[in-house]
Amino acid sequence: MQAIGSEKLSLPMLLNPDAWKKTGRWDGSKGEFFRLQDRKESDLLLAPTHEEEITQLVASQLQSPKQLPIRLYQIGRKYRDELRPRAGLLRGREFIMKDLYSFDATQEDAFVTYDQIAQAYRRIFDKMGVPFVVAEADSGNIGGSKSHEYHLISPVGEDTLLTCSGCGYTANEELAVGKVDQLCKDGHTALTDSLLLCNVDTTVVAFKAAAQDGVVEGLAAIFTPPQREANILKVQTLLSKYLKRHKQMSETATMDMEIVPFAKAKSIDPATVRHLHVFVDDAVKLSLQASEQLTIHPQDHFRIATEGDHCVSCAKKGSSSRLSSVKAIECGHTFYLGTKYSSVLDCGFRESGRKGNKVPTEMGCYGIGITRLLAAVAEARHDTKGIAWPAQLAPYSVCIVPTDDRKQAFKDIAGQIYDRLAKGHLKGDVVIDDRRLGFGAKMKDAELVGYPYTIIVGPNSLQQEQPLLEIHQRIQHQDSKKTNIELKDLLQQHEVFITI
Ligand SMILES: [Zn+2]
Repeated sequence: MQAIGSEKLSLPMLLNPDAWKKTGRWDGSKGEFFRLQDRKESDLLLAPTHEEEITQLVASQLQSPKQLPIRLYQIGRKYRDELRPRAGLLRGREFIMKDLYSFDATQEDAFVTYDQIAQAYRRIFDKMGVPFVVAEADSGNIGGSKSHEYHLISPVGEDTLLTCSGCGYTANEELAVGKVDQLCKDGHTALTDSLLLCNVDTTVVAFKAAAQDGVVEGLAAIFTPPQREANILKVQTLLSKYLKRHKQMSETATMDMEIVPFAKAKSIDPATVRHLHVFVDDAVKLSLQASEQLTIHPQDHFRIATEGDHCVSCAKKGSSSRLSSVKAIECGHTFYLGTKYSSVLDCGFRESGRKGNKVPTEMGCYGIGITRLLAAVAEARHDTKGIAWPAQLAPYSVCIVPTDDRKQAFKDIAGQIYDRLAKGHLKGDVVIDDRRLGFGAKMKDAELVGYPYTIIVGPNSLQQEQPLLEIHQRIQHQDSKKTNIELKDLLQQHEVFITI
């Protein structure tokens, strides 16, 4: 983070929710926030994330575009009232996150920042030595939205990714696009008897959102090929944008959307529906006529892509490749925010020497879920003996184990090795197991904890002529790799034997 010009800070965990009320997230959070009150019954919030705080902080300091770009990050605790916490660190109500926020003067600059940070994220994940994939999380519509997810492929993951082996395209199921073999046709031009058509699947959803004066609510119908699930999330995003553009929905409101059960949807008489928003999937050929009562939104990929669909980018290049699906754990996310927060919280600047309106800053936010990452890497790097941590994440890279703790001579040699290693690049990364415990138990623990290297100090280390040590290198799914070396060689050039 520092290599790309970010500064570290620490924001509070106990928050005043005033700014969250302005951005609409206080009312829109649907219970996933931990809210509390002080003795005067004022609202407080346990930090679920920090966009509002950081935006206010930068707003209070920003006077000129010359101060930009600003990149600030922290590593700290966050709280979310998860409906289903599970699997220890994988999904908890309290977790540690690394979060970075960026502020730029123009969208162009913000995209440069975004690319630099996305590159840094790739380097971080590459360094860990576990197979990560970067998934497109771009909703792909309306001007310059940029977003990527960083996943570890794992059968215990909660996310489903669709990938193409032909070109490397990878996207979350919620956003992936595919191509079907043939279009599905329906002859209807009006919805007369029912909202449900014969040749295509209809999903009816009820929506509700805050408006300037009260609420806006209604129905939407999504037409997809038979047996193809509708992408409700995408419809929700597009409909929210549409209603905001037409001033029917408050700028900061969040939309609630619920599927109307089939039996109920079937009995709806189209004539009684005051207004219907229609979303036709691009694999469906349907010529509905727009009317006062019917808004037909532009055709798009409104079905959830599935395994077996054709890859769109390969098809464009004239080759054919099908998508396959894998389970994954999302450990990082980069997101271009634009002026969503800066415009509401007045975080901007006046062009040099001019009066007039402030220009809001262009923002981005970028997170790595540290506790979840540990759980994900442990999933990927365990075996029957325990965890084989990548050196970058191991609690200690080297553990020194004397075979007998009662012998002062062993302790002395262990201390000598420790002092030597701790002087070099392994500073803070070496530990001596001096617990009063049998040697066998200590070695088992060393493999369980998963130190990349264990150095054994035993009787051979006391030989006058040629004191020897044994180094065990932990390798996943294999016996440790054992090497005998002379004590003096380790003391003189440990980098040769411990390659971290
Ligand atoms: Zn492809």
